Amino acid sequence: MNAPSKRYNVFEKRNIASEPINNMTSQFRSLPSVEHVLSDDRICKIVSEFSRQPVVSLIRANLEKARLDIKRGLQPPDLDGIVANLQKEAQSKWRAWPADVINGTGVILHTNLGRSPLSAQATEAVTSVSRSYSDLEFDLQSGKRGSRQSHMANLINEVTGSEASIVVNNNASAVMLGLAAIAGGKEVIVSRSEAVEIGGGFRIPDVLLQSGAILKEVGTTNRTYVGDYEAAITENTGAILVIHPSNFRISGFTHSPLIKELVDLGRKTHIPILHDLGSGCLLDTSLYGMAHEPMPQESINDGVDVTFFSGDKLLGGPQSGIICGRAKLVTKISQHPLARAVRIDKISIAALSATILHYIKQEATEKIPIWQMISMKPSDIFTRAEAWASALNFETDIRKTYCTIGGGSLPGEVISSWGLFIPCSENGDSASKFAGHLRKAGRPVVGRIEDENVIIEPRTVLVEDDQELIESLNYARDKNHTNEQAKQA
Ligand SMILES: *Cc1c(COP(=O)(O)O)cnc(C)c1O
Repeated sequence: MNAPSKRYNVFEKRNIASEPINNMTSQFRSLPSVEHVLSDDRICKIVSEFSRQPVVSLIRANLEKARLDIKRGLQPPDLDGIVANLQKEAQSKWRAWPADVINGTGVILHTNLGRSPLSAQATEAVTSVSRSYSDLEFDLQSGKRGSRQSHMANLINEVTGSEASIVVNNNASAVMLGLAAIAGGKEVIVSRSEAVEIGGGFRIPDVLLQSGAILKEVGTTNRTYVGDYEAAITENTGAILVIHPSNFRISGFTHSPLIKELVDLGRKTHIPILHDLGSGCLLDTSLYGMAHEPMPQESINDGVDVTFFSGDKLLGGPQSGIICGRAKLVTKISQHPLARAVRIDKISIAALSATILHYIKQEATEKIPIWQMISMKPSDIFTRAEAWASALNFETDIRKTYCTIGGGSLPGEVISSWGLFIPCSENGDSASKFAGHLRKAGRPVVGRIEDENVIIEPRTVLVEDDQELIESLNYARDKNHTNEQAKQA
């Protein structure tokens, strides 16, 4: 008795739904076939640029998405819509990446924007070592096998005064390798004020753990004395590690020993002193109106046994980690199995050696982009901002600003500068929308937003990019206006 009525119910439900299903069926039928999309002239152009197979996969994915839209009761795109989407996806998915960006933020070492731009000479060195074979590990004099480290090490020793050096992938791996080779399985004494996170997951206690060394913290968060280190030394001590507080400041009632005092303690007790400097600043920042950033030369001159620093912070070169120190210890480090795992590549070696050469030739402030930026005079910056303002199709202001070093260097230190202010609220635009258009310009620009102004800082814009910056700014303004007019219409 129950069965027929159930069947009837099912029938009734189907009957009610029959019209939308018919509509859906016709929508499915109206979707173009893969072949049909492929035959469109605009798609033929994409195929000729990227080849058939990846375009077919992209078309299939787009048609699949259109079917899903239909099932959800949404209007699927027509052929023009599908083609437009394919064009957009092909361009963004298969573009060469990363894209060249103009840094208008005023942060000189912007980690998200790739830290240090390279000098023209370093860029040329990268190009030639990449396109050709090289004498990377080959001695052209003897015709025998050479070392990828020796030439680089000689240059670094010359500028830092170090006895020996090696270069690895980055400073994080330099510190990890140094600890593993010198203090693996032993205790490493670190001040509580320095057992910190430097950023991007680089935390001193974790790095020590991974290196196989044992962290022995001494002192307090704000005050640590030489006596604290001395009292912690046992026969199981492998090293004393000093970490430069590169991206934070402890101020007020503080104390930490001078490097020299720790070196004396190390000599007396035969414990190596390791110094993680972070930045690798080879020029004196106090000459440019900032606090003095500790320099590798000073650390080495003070007698530190091994010094570690980055190649792409204030040194102004490629991503790399530099290890300088006493020959015996540097040899031990270079022979550790981890050294091969963190080996530097030839492209970075080429860029780093060209960068170090600028220091040897005493031309760093003229040739290395970040030092050009740091040393740029405010009056020259004002003149550049004026030139930008007069080349633009719209009104802007020039106001006093402050730039920062960034990249975990000199926290709290600023360089006074002049910025181009683009007022957005008065024109019915919003600063975040304008900034969005700037990021999508042919040459993307990243600026800063402050009180509904988009600010572009001349100090961090490479001089050769001025023309493209103007074009991107005018583009963003046109976009904003087109949108405003569309809204009002
Ligand atoms: C930045 C920094 C590091 C990490 O250097 P990378 O080259 O980014 O790997 C390590 N230690 C200190 C003190 C730093 O400032």
